[in-house]
Amino acid sequence: MLIIGLTGGIGSGKTAVSDLFESLGVDVVDADVVARKVVLPGSQGLQAIIEHFGPVILEADATLNRRQLRNIIFSDPAEKKWLENILHPLIESEIKKKLQQSTSIYSILVSPLLLETKQSQLVDRVLVIDVPENLQLERVQARDQQSFEQVRAIMKSQLSRVDRLAKADDVIINDADFATLKENVEALHQFYLTLVQKNEKNN
Ligand code: ATP
Repeated sequence: MLIIGLTGGIGSGKTAVSDLFESLGVDVVDADVVARKVVLPGSQGLQAIIEHFGPVILEADATLNRRQLRNIIFSDPAEKKWLENILHPLIESEIKKKLQQSTSIYSILVSPLLLETKQSQLVDRVLVIDVPENLQLERVQARDQQSFEQVRAIMKSQLSRVDRLAKADDVIINDADFATLKENVEALHQFYLTLVQKNEKNN
């Protein structure tokens, strides 16, 4: 089964692209959705977090206080590492499970941390959504009402464009309108279908 890993910086268009693939009948596993699932009330992940930080890390309704956790790990690299050591294996095994359940001709794993984690080992090819930085800043500011500085800080904490592109097998440059993006996705979809056919012939 061919698995494509789809990644890109903040606001590059990962969701827009994965929605287009989904509309073509491709099963999409979203690592962000999985990452939220592994810390739901009653989960092993949330239990470990409560034991480590204490119940102060919970909201009044016993769900995880994500903002507080984000603030802690943003200012404390050791706590960030601790959290990653707990959550990444849980996320990876849940992603694996979901990919195994996929029934489409090929499937897609969309993840902002594909290249920074072992998630890259779960995929056969890496598709990077690339966007010029000025456009990235503009789109994220418009979408999230965040300041220029806030968006820049997030961009700086992520892999650089060059490093990400160096790891790509396929690239979509998302610097035009949605119609162009759709055309690019459709072309790539055809390419992936031919890869699947070639694989089937060889087996
Ligand atoms: P994040 O990393 O924050 O999850 P993302 O990579 O999933 O973001 P999207 O949410 O798909 O990115 O896109 C970011 C914003 O840019 C959205 O508001 C989206 O509608 C807009 N956008 C994406 N592609 C285009 C395009 N080709 N033309 C115009 N706007 C676009």
